[in-house]
Amino acid sequence: MTDKASTFKAKSTIKSQDLEHRQKINFNIGRYNAAIPQGIHQFSDVHLARERAKNVKWRAIETLDQQLEQFEMNLKKRGGKVLWAEDSQEALDLILEICKAKNCITIVKSKSMVTEEIHLNDFLKKNNIESVETDLGEYIQQLDGEAPYHIVTPAMHKSKEDVAKLFAEKLGTDPKLTPEELTLVARQKLRSKYVEAEIGITGANFIISDTGSIAITENEGNARLSCAWPETHIVVVGIEKVIPSITDLGLFWPLLATYGTGQKITVYNTVISGPKQEGETDGPSEMYVILLDNGRTNILANSKQRESLYCIRCGACLNACPVYKNIGGHTYGTTYSGPIGSVITPHLQGLNEYKHLSYASSLCGNCTEVCAVKINLHELLLENRHEAVEEGFLSFGERFAWKMWKRASLSRGMMNMANGTMKNWFVNKVFKVWTKHHSNLDFSKKTFNKMWKERRGGKGN
Ligand code: SF4
Repeated sequence: MTDKASTFKAKSTIKSQDLEHRQKINFNIGRYNAAIPQGIHQFSDVHLARERAKNVKWRAIETLDQQLEQFEMNLKKRGGKVLWAEDSQEALDLILEICKAKNCITIVKSKSMVTEEIHLNDFLKKNNIESVETDLGEYIQQLDGEAPYHIVTPAMHKSKEDVAKLFAEKLGTDPKLTPEELTLVARQKLRSKYVEAEIGITGANFIISDTGSIAITENEGNARLSCAWPETHIVVVGIEKVIPSITDLGLFWPLLATYGTGQKITVYNTVISGPKQEGETDGPSEMYVILLDNGRTNILANSKQRESLYCIRCGACLNACPVYKNIGGHTYGTTYSGPIGSVITPHLQGLNEYKHLSYASSLCGNCTEVCAVKINLHELLLENRHEAVEEGFLSFGERFAWKMWKRASLSRGMMNMANGTMKNWFVNKVFKVWTKHHSNLDFSKKTFNKMWKERRGGKGN
């Protein structure tokens, strides 16, 4: 077992027994579950909408190279600059170069999982640049020195009391503040940062090819402020976020809102097509878009896994996953958690090190059922397991055990050799992996062969 797998198992064991954690998560996911039907109601045929979205993403990903080149060409026409980063380090180096050129000491940043993926905040801190998270959930997590817990709701595992306590500890506020008062505190702290910052960094929910734009969707307006106030705007985005046309937003924006939070439409939806144009008074003077690969082309090259690039990061599969709800987002030890994280992380960061995530699933198929763009997530998890076996990443012990199991299963004589008592003894007392976390298995006293014969009046095998 790799170190990552052992850590994952140890953390899962602890977290799954943490009843307080479970109660908070169930409360927050319960609210989400109550909101979803309201959002879905807006579609006359939600299955058709999801099917269409999947088709649009299929087309975008199948022609990814052309879509990205078209995006670059169109954004450049309006003065935007497009930079290509093959991996995290290249993206970080590009950002640092821009920061140095702008003498930047303060950055305002809106929520972006890609910047988590490249560990941007740590990198900026090492380079003496202050990077302030402006999304409330991210701000809470940054204050607490924790990574986001969920791809849509970064502080989902914290109750309002937890947040009040955290603010009291870190900002010296009254520990009894209400959520509204806490929001006002954060607002007051953050407002001055927008004005101070030389650079604003955002992610993008979509890259739009035909207009050379990026689309950002958010509920707080902080992303809009982050890209409008500072003189320079940097967008860091994964190459898979592309959609062919601005008209596709009519489908994707409501779909993302509904499956993300149950809203019909998110509060602030912004399309940005370059820096401030001549005659315009607002906006940054310069806009850079960093298109990040960081392993995504590995997924693109894998015809079976390619489908996972359709993901619009709505987070619905996390909320639906019985494993996620019990072990929580941080246990995964990865930027992307839950079913989609378990599918893509092995391809982004190494199959051998992260293959264990494909087993963090009951294969109930709930993730596939709720996916906004109908990705066959549970089948991709199985495919990951298959690929790990094909690549020879199983331990000798496991290979041997499965070989023996196969041999015994294919031999009626061997299956009949051991009676139920012996099988029970072997599985429950000798081979204790199952009984460590479950009650004893109880094999039938009679073999299947014997029962079959009895049923047929003693005839046949
Ligand atoms: S895989 Fe589907 S459900 Fe999960 S985050 Fe992506 S789009 Fe949403």
